[in-house]
Amino acid sequence: MTIRLPRGSTLVVASHNAGKVREIKALLGPHGIHPVSAGDLNLPEPEETGLTFAANAELKAHASAKGSGHAALADDSGLCVDALDGDPGIYSARWAGPTKDFRIAMTRIHDELRHKGLTTSKAKFVCALCIALPSGEAMTFEGEVHGALTFPPRGDHGFGYDPIFVADGMDETFAEIDPMKKHAMSHRAKAFEKLLHSHIFDESL
Ligand code: IMP
Repeated sequence: MTIRLPRGSTLVVASHNAGKVREIKALLGPHGIHPVSAGDLNLPEPEETGLTFAANAELKAHASAKGSGHAALADDSGLCVDALDGDPGIYSARWAGPTKDFRIAMTRIHDELRHKGLTTSKAKFVCALCIALPSGEAMTFEGEVHGALTFPPRGDHGFGYDPIFVADGMDETFAEIDPMKKHAMSHRAKAFEKLLHSHIFDESL
């Protein structure tokens, strides 16, 4: 099964996270697609009951596609820390608590590492992107970027856990590098690359 969206199609970005919406809109920019966010359409945020990034991306994309009558693109992503057995993983947003304060989440990671006698760990960001149609058809793509954690947090760009993540081969955190550089190499960019290779944005139509 394949999905094809002609130029000028409306695509709902099924997220209420301003940082993610900004990055996804930037990725969609060159492809002649008209992005609107689920927040702009007042679509409800479904509960993330899935046990994998893919399952949560799928339930968010289906909810927005059915709720809006348009194709919808959802991202479920997070930080998996090797020394914490992959935590916070699919619970990355939830570790920031109801106020969505990522200083709390980054401090919790630091504290849990210290309890294990560690000051750092290898880690990866994972992103599952699901594109769904109101008819129920869907396609899902995954991307990862590997690196290590650094404390204290550094940098003002990006969002979420960016200030403690240094990608392999780099010295600066994702919150210190130019956002365009992050867009070119992130887990989200890699999942998006796979989506583009499947020719969903049919620029000939
Ligand atoms: P969810 O996919 O909405 O459940 O939230 C995923 C959470 O993972 C976000 O709120 C961020 O905290 C974190 N996350 C995902 N992608 C990134 C990223 O590119 N940089 C920093 N944190 C991220």
